[in-house]
Amino acid sequence: MKKILIAAAFIFVTGVTAAQKQKVVFVIIDGVSKDVMESVPTPNLHAIAQEGALLSAYQGGERNEFNQTPTISAPGYYNVLTGVWYHKHNVPDNDIKAPNYNYPTIFRLFKNQFPEGKAAVFSSWQDNRTKLIGEGLAQTGNIKMDYHFDGLELDTVKYPHDKGRKFMSDIDQAVTDEASRVISQNAPDLSWVYLEFTDDMGHMYGDSEQFHNAVQAADRRVGQLWEAIKQRKEKYKEDWLIVITTDHGRDPKTGRGHGGQSDRERASWIVNNAKPINNYAKQTQQVSVVDIVPTICRFLNIKLSADQQRELDGVPLIGKVSLAQPVASTANHKINLTWMPVDNEGKVKVWLASTNDYKQTGRPDHYKLIGEVPVKDGKFNIDLSREATSNFYKVVLEGKYNTVNRWIISK
Ligand SMILES: [Zn+2]
Repeated sequence: MKKILIAAAFIFVTGVTAAQKQKVVFVIIDGVSKDVMESVPTPNLHAIAQEGALLSAYQGGERNEFNQTPTISAPGYYNVLTGVWYHKHNVPDNDIKAPNYNYPTIFRLFKNQFPEGKAAVFSSWQDNRTKLIGEGLAQTGNIKMDYHFDGLELDTVKYPHDKGRKFMSDIDQAVTDEASRVISQNAPDLSWVYLEFTDDMGHMYGDSEQFHNAVQAADRRVGQLWEAIKQRKEKYKEDWLIVITTDHGRDPKTGRGHGGQSDRERASWIVNNAKPINNYAKQTQQVSVVDIVPTICRFLNIKLSADQQRELDGVPLIGKVSLAQPVASTANHKINLTWMPVDNEGKVKVWLASTNDYKQTGRPDHYKLIGEVPVKDGKFNIDLSREATSNFYKVVLEGKYNTVNRWIISK
């Protein structure tokens, strides 16, 4: 009798463990606008999307709004890594002079909750680890990646920098080979794979055969990663989420440049194998790349503090969501708020702060509960004549399933 009980308990425990083995790989393919991703044959990306979804997603924050963000590489990656736009993370260009580490990357959110969890980065650009993730910096709590494979671009003996930049394709391949090997053998819980060659070809040749060939090469590399993941799923019954996106599109005229706010430069996309994507992802014409952090948090069961939720600019693409797309405008001493109701359960709490401590010091802001209204109403007005005068407000809309926010900056 005793033996049977122990056997039953063992099955129960291993069953739970197996169900908890969630793992995530996210991939950034540099500088591939949505039209190119769709018109060039990308069978591997499309095979993954068949399991989950291919979503239109914007980069660049919102055009002409307080959160507008240059469509440049490092800001684009940081939008993906932090789930917030430039007005918070403070990376406007590739110099990465002063990232605001008060906004944690997905790696820190993960490590804070799961110190024993394994995190990995595979990348052609060492700054991705040393500056954006901020490995070993006091401001990031000395975060340490468990695996890294990067900096090959600094090895000009093994990878001589030829004019045609073939070396960068070779580096992308080496990065992919190593990422696939580590996924197969060690299965880190959270991995970032970064592939650069596409953007190099875009800059050199614009919309061209060379650029399109590079996109197809990136697709084959994604296929290699996906193969490693599928083998792990099969062999170890792990639950893997793969998310692939791009950091910016390309200029509409020649495809050589980027950095501006044209539709094509802003036109990113998210391919994933998430089953199922939620009503927000289904109902929205264009989700955004800042939605990736809250999505990964949900998948890996990373619990966010109320203050972290109040700052995140994205909305999860899986699970229930109360509201999305908050808009605020001011007129006649009122803040007029609207939002898109998604799952119409419960109420929205409307919070207001005129401090910005979180950005400046990392400490919580002083929010006041202004009102509560059914989520399905989709709107609320804040009467400012009853509040302290300020030229800066943060509005937080807290639903049952998620929280969104808006800043109001008077000129
Ligand atoms: Zn880029």
